[in-house]
Amino acid sequence: MRVPLLDLAEQHRPLAAPIREQIDDVLRSGQFILGPKVEEFEHTICRYTGVQFAIGVSSGTDALLAILMALGIGRGDAVVTTPYSFFATAGCIARVGATPLFVDIDPETFNLSPRALEEFLRLKCARTSVDTTYQSKKIRAIMPVHLFGLCCQMDEIRTLAETYRLPVIEDGAQAIGAEYPSQSGGQQAGTIGLAGFFSFYPSKNLGAAGDAGLIVTNDETLAHRLRVCRNHGMEPHYFHQMIGGNFRLDEIQAAILSVKLAHLDEWSARRRAVADGYRAEFRRAGLLGKIELPYDPFHDRGLRNAHIYHQYVIRAPNRNALREHLRQNEIGSAIYYPVGLHEQKCFDYLGYKRGDFPATERATSETLALPIYPELSSTAQRFVVEKIADFYAR
Ligand SMILES: *Cc1c(COP(=O)(O)O)cnc(C)c1O
Repeated sequence: MRVPLLDLAEQHRPLAAPIREQIDDVLRSGQFILGPKVEEFEHTICRYTGVQFAIGVSSGTDALLAILMALGIGRGDAVVTTPYSFFATAGCIARVGATPLFVDIDPETFNLSPRALEEFLRLKCARTSVDTTYQSKKIRAIMPVHLFGLCCQMDEIRTLAETYRLPVIEDGAQAIGAEYPSQSGGQQAGTIGLAGFFSFYPSKNLGAAGDAGLIVTNDETLAHRLRVCRNHGMEPHYFHQMIGGNFRLDEIQAAILSVKLAHLDEWSARRRAVADGYRAEFRRAGLLGKIELPYDPFHDRGLRNAHIYHQYVIRAPNRNALREHLRQNEIGSAIYYPVGLHEQKCFDYLGYKRGDFPATERATSETLALPIYPELSSTAQRFVVEKIADFYAR
């Protein structure tokens, strides 16, 4: 039995007709970039997330880049983030000329550790009445990443951000719809800080048929700057108020995303059911002492989407050999991520070294993402767990 890590064709089969209709609409309109379909999608996202402003952009990476540019973050500045994330998180900080400052993760959630963040700010940074600095770089923002579809501990992070007067930018690329049980009730990923963004890369929970992304914020001034930034900082036409970029969203992508967004909650629920299925299978196979399953800290907090399982990531002994065993049995798996951002070659100049972030380094060598998607059958799941059991029985 072949079990891929992700099967997009299955998801698109029942949606082919409505998607084609939308594409035909766009072709007939002759309007391909930043038109009515983009506006409609932005409005739908505002309703879905409960934020006031949504700005559709060309990718998650460009969303992040635009936020940093619109906030004027650049040379001499620094942004605090996690070393256990996709490259774009730190790559964009570096691209605007600022310095990524890493803080280790919580080994249970894989997300930025509020405790490590507190220690970093309190012990390693200098603080004046207006600024927080680290080695003469001015810290301009904290950027938590809601990794694998689980929200960070945002109350703790927000309290620290307020203490140090730093805005929070949420990397919600993997977490659209995921909810956090804040003191003031359930809040969606991306809507808690000053600004947040989503990626619609095809393999994300809400995927376009190409690259796309979106920024959400409740700050009207920032929303306006982001709209201008998205189109080369141009306002009015051919008059440039700031240096922006081509971060524009295509009509076809927005139209497809509108069709798919209507199904997102049902897909998230299915993903949770798949996660429950894995838990039951691992228990049945007697592997719970061997393998660590994903931590789901908010599941009993009365939220609709406490975890959206963008990835189903386990910790497994002898991880690399297990992965090879699964490959031989035609079971897809992936390592997110094999190297911490602080150890990436291109960040040598930042001066980090092995040992700086033990929880991250341990995660890079122990974690494995198993197949998960809404349509994954229980038969396929059972097969995956049986093969894992075989591996440890050898
Ligand atoms: C996918 C991803 C991004 C970048 O999004 P793209 O749409 O691929 O540019 C940024 N951060 C994280 C955590 C991601 O997973």
